[in-house]
Amino acid sequence: MASSDRLVANTTAALGAITATLPTGEARTGQIEMAQAVARAISEGRHLVVEAGTGTGKTFAYLVPAIISGRRTVVATATKTLQDQLATKDLPHLVEHLDRPVEFAVLKGRSNYVCMQRIHELDDGEDRLDLDTGPRPPAEEIAAIARWAVTSETGDRAELMVEPSHRAWAAVSVGPRECPGATRCPKGDECFAERARAAAMEADVIIVNTHLYGMHLATGGALLPEHEVVVFDEAHQLEDTIAATSGVDLTGGRFTALARTIGAILADPSIVAGIDDLGSQWRASIADERGRRLRGAVDGDAARVLGLARARLEPAMAALRAIPDDSSGDVGARKLRAIKATTSLIEDIDRISEVRSGEVAWIEGTEENPVLRVAPIDVGGLLADVMWPAATAVLTSATLPAALPDQLGLEPGAFERITVESPFDYPNQSMLYCAAHMPDPRSEAFDPAMHDELAALIEAAGGRTMALFTSYRALSAAVEALRDRLDVPILAQDELPKPLLIERFTAEPETCLFATMGFWQGVDVPGATLSLVTIDRLPFPRPDDPLLQARRDRARADAFRLVDLPRATTLLAQGAGRLIRTTTDRGVIAVFDPRMATNARYRWDVIAALPPMPRTKIRTDAEEFLRSLR
Ligand code: SF4
Repeated sequence: MASSDRLVANTTAALGAITATLPTGEARTGQIEMAQAVARAISEGRHLVVEAGTGTGKTFAYLVPAIISGRRTVVATATKTLQDQLATKDLPHLVEHLDRPVEFAVLKGRSNYVCMQRIHELDDGEDRLDLDTGPRPPAEEIAAIARWAVTSETGDRAELMVEPSHRAWAAVSVGPRECPGATRCPKGDECFAERARAAAMEADVIIVNTHLYGMHLATGGALLPEHEVVVFDEAHQLEDTIAATSGVDLTGGRFTALARTIGAILADPSIVAGIDDLGSQWRASIADERGRRLRGAVDGDAARVLGLARARLEPAMAALRAIPDDSSGDVGARKLRAIKATTSLIEDIDRISEVRSGEVAWIEGTEENPVLRVAPIDVGGLLADVMWPAATAVLTSATLPAALPDQLGLEPGAFERITVESPFDYPNQSMLYCAAHMPDPRSEAFDPAMHDELAALIEAAGGRTMALFTSYRALSAAVEALRDRLDVPILAQDELPKPLLIERFTAEPETCLFATMGFWQGVDVPGATLSLVTIDRLPFPRPDDPLLQARRDRARADAFRLVDLPRATTLLAQGAGRLIRTTTDRGVIAVFDPRMATNARYRWDVIAALPPMPRTKIRTDAEEFLRSLR
């Protein structure tokens, strides 16, 4: 038997044994099909793109063949929900039931782990944090984190019972731009980040987020152990994540943080003050430019501040190098961190000063914390150079735009693409209602009409509604218009932390959850508590997004087809995917944007992106269906 056939056969047998241990007890056709395709891809070293409908069971479909193959695999996920599901449910289940030993590890970015060297320095009280470099982090909070760090097994911030403040965590952690590495750090042998990395080195399966994988590529493969297989789950977000991680950004906070770091060891206060002052100058130079896309090099006052920064950082670097190392090692450790952070800042300033062709630069953020970002317009070339030759990749999601492989630089002959149908019976489990009679969503008449539609459907459903909005403005307007008008409670996205919101929404079926983009993906609420998902408008991207503007310029006449439409249809499908999560779920998707029913140019593309649901334009059909579910 050829090795590919052997891996396919072994995968099929193992998947059958695993699914027999689950409550449903039966293998799903789509899951087997996907697992076999993954096994072939791994065996033949050929990339795989799998569109796997909701409910396929895709995590087992890629984990089982990856483990059976014996090749070290990195699974990169886009949401914390999926990361938690893999680490706390799926992989422990495989460890228990697979007929072979499996080691797995979760690896996060360095700044997620408490830094023992920083804790040690803070304990010694040597940190001169009041050197005019912003307010001191709360001492009690830092002391609590320090006590926890002594007993913690992982040092992972996610394990703190109380979410730390930004200032406190910044004082007890370091990022990759600052950490000198374990071999040059006095606390290197107690380092949590290094321990996590060491555990990953021993693991068969390493779970990371896609951002960390992007940083791994951007740093020339420095962050993750060598691996032969990489799975990108929720791969529809890969292009944006790689664009973000292979670019640079500059905030005033970078200067302030550096001033804080060097302030603890440099004797010359004028150098520290000069760098701290750059933070305010940088903020002031770009705050009024937010939303602007730069054409060519950085100009105006921002260019002046970058020049000044360059002029002040060089002497700071010379002064740092001149500091003698101390015997205890703490000054030496601070010095190494300060040199590393200064070097990284100088490199980023140089890169930002000369925006290269193929990159786009823009300014965004808040008035208090504006940021200048530079990102590549296309990531295909970068991935073709550093990723596709390095490991066999499996890209999967419930919805993947047709042009995605091309945008990611995958050559047509280098991958197989398959579509795996969902096991759900959408024609009988669901209904798609499009409010074709609604006014144009850009008109003033739209909001009141939409609120009437939403109220009528919520009443028919008896609550049980997740109302998804494309903007905070629309969300707030709907909450304000409907809270007093409806008999059922409305939970708005910003009223509770996300896990608590979902917990309450799940526990109280008559409750409605009104939310924006963060809830369109990765939220899983099975059962009768969710019978209605509404979508206010087709989620086309903002026309003024600078990176997308640059991609549109590049695509010219094809811009709408290649840039805007795939994003809207993918996000719409993700939002609609919140409704049916199990074979017994039933409900209605309601879209209030009439363009879905009337726009001749793209309406069929939009409908084709959704599962095969019976469609209606008549609200009473949807109301009747919803009432039948109560
Ligand atoms: S190596 Fe040292 S400085 Fe870096 S994170 Fe670990 S303890 Fe902190």
